[in-house]
Amino acid sequence: MPLQRPGVERARARGFLSGRCARNACNAFAAIAAFTHRGQYIDPMLGALRSLALLPGQCEVCRAFGEGLICAACRAQHARLRARCARCGLALGAAAPACGACLREPPPYERTVCALEYGFPWDRLISAFKFHRRVELAGALAALLAEAIERDDAARGAQAEAAPPAPPRLVVPVPLSPARLAERGFNQAWELARRVARLRGLPAEARALQRVLDAPAQATLAGRAERLRNLRHAFAPAASSGTGARAGARNVAGHDVALVDDVMTTGATAREAAAALLRAGARSVHLWVLARTPAPANAAAPA
Ligand SMILES: [Zn+2]
Ligand SMILES: [Zn+2]
Repeated sequence: MPLQRPGVERARARGFLSGRCARNACNAFAAIAAFTHRGQYIDPMLGALRSLALLPGQCEVCRAFGEGLICAACRAQHARLRARCARCGLALGAAAPACGACLREPPPYERTVCALEYGFPWDRLISAFKFHRRVELAGALAALLAEAIERDDAARGAQAEAAPPAPPRLVVPVPLSPARLAERGFNQAWELARRVARLRGLPAEARALQRVLDAPAQATLAGRAERLRNLRHAFAPAASSGTGARAGARNVAGHDVALVDDVMTTGATAREAAAALLRAGARSVHLWVLARTPAPANAAAPA
């Protein structure tokens, strides 16, 4: 017996619902539903078509055709090399081995490579990648990060530091909590990490580290102290966590590790994750982050 839907029947009588729906009359609104689910169905499909080169590549920033998802002109204009603190990646007036904050309180990571300043147009692209499942952007964004790492290698060679930190030999992502991973469907840091690792010819390990506390999203917390409190003991090496450990997960002990994240804000997440890697026996930790937020106007520098 068909389901009785008086509202739908009235609409059909007035001629508002012309097409037959696949299931019940409510599905006559399928066109609206298709727009509602654009992020869920249409965008990934378009992404897959683009990656198969069935659609011409269009720059995500300036919409120019034919040069891939981020064109050379936009890379030159918006991904310019900035002078940064070598330790924490903060943009500075002139490049320095350490900013004031890193001198006062050295972070647990040796060095930070940061490709972009978090702002136009990268904030929009990173949001699309992360929150609208535009996973096809990961390749272009990872290429920007790999370029920044290469430039950093060259800069280090030119500076001939007295005791340069050993280059990383294992790439790991900042993990998401299981709940957030289930909600998002992918870990954006891992999507970047595995592509950068491939470009660098290094092994990558998705589960070297795991998030053991399902803390509130860092973006909802304003201050650095609050972010640090929120994250204390939030990360654990996979091998020590019992139930979540995966057989064969690569042990970080004795390795110089590159920890990859998409956006670095106060550095609280990176600090806690790096400390967990060091507790697990990593010899050193480097940060490779796609984008760094600028220093707050009223502070010398975040950590
Ligand atoms: Zn462009
Ligand atoms: Zn610094």
